[in-house]
Amino acid sequence: MIGQCLLLRGSDGLHRFFVKDIATDSPEVIIAGEEAAHLNRVLRLGPGDLIEVCDGRGRAFRAQITRSDSGESRARLLEPILKDSEPDLQLILAQALVKGERMDFVLQKGTELGVHTFVPTICRRSVVRLEKGREARRRKRWQRIVKEAAKQCGRTIVPQVKPAVELEEMLREYGGEGTHIIFPWEGEGSLGLDTVLGNIFPHGGKTLRVLVVVGPEGGFELDEVELADEYGARIVSLGSRVLRSETAALAAISIILYEAGDLGAACRG
Ligand code: SAH
Repeated sequence: MIGQCLLLRGSDGLHRFFVKDIATDSPEVIIAGEEAAHLNRVLRLGPGDLIEVCDGRGRAFRAQITRSDSGESRARLLEPILKDSEPDLQLILAQALVKGERMDFVLQKGTELGVHTFVPTICRRSVVRLEKGREARRRKRWQRIVKEAAKQCGRTIVPQVKPAVELEEMLREYGGEGTHIIFPWEGEGSLGLDTVLGNIFPHGGKTLRVLVVVGPEGGFELDEVELADEYGARIVSLGSRVLRSETAALAAISIILYEAGDLGAACRG
């Protein structure tokens, strides 16, 4: 066990870079765009230096830089890194649109905690509206925040930020067969998240998909709660205090991942 921990941590001191593709039949990977500029100009790494490369979809390798250029750098693949930083549980956060910095906060912290996919969700009381022209730009910014957070905290996937959708469309698209929908609502008096999770994870969180839906600053309207109920959502309480949207999201994520067995000791298996 001790040996395995050391092995998993062996590469942790290395700077990590996300690359588009890791082709194992090719001895080299290309580090492009902002990642190359960061490697070359900010960190001033050069040929011979060791780094870690990730494809953002779960694969990571130790690699040695062969060429350092701010436009495009290259590295030779050494050995795969057997990291276990991804939860077994696929956790989707449908976060109601909230104002700028709060959304950024949820995306950053949700990524650190282990969210797999973010779906910005338009609810009746969302005060933020995404204007058509700005939507693509905003999503790009959100995706960058998530990528930075993924890089910083050692994830091997970069969670996706999906295009913003209305609540019903979100439930239809992401809450289908095989997905447990958890819908925290401060108006729920009797059913707690703990009870629901006790039923969902009798044997831990393996291969499950959980969709957690968190409302905006002004909360959900009653017919939105009813709609979620029709889609099979479990309407749950997060306790007797009314939490801010971002607090509710991070509390729910932490509790779900904890109950799925993902927030325990760092060295598993
Ligand atoms: N309607 C409220 C505030 C909404 S809080 C008001 O203005 O008084 C924002 C979101 O956080 C809610 O839509 C809900 O999803 C979640 N939330 C906050 N506190 C909660 C609690 N105690 N239990 C369950 N969900 C909660």
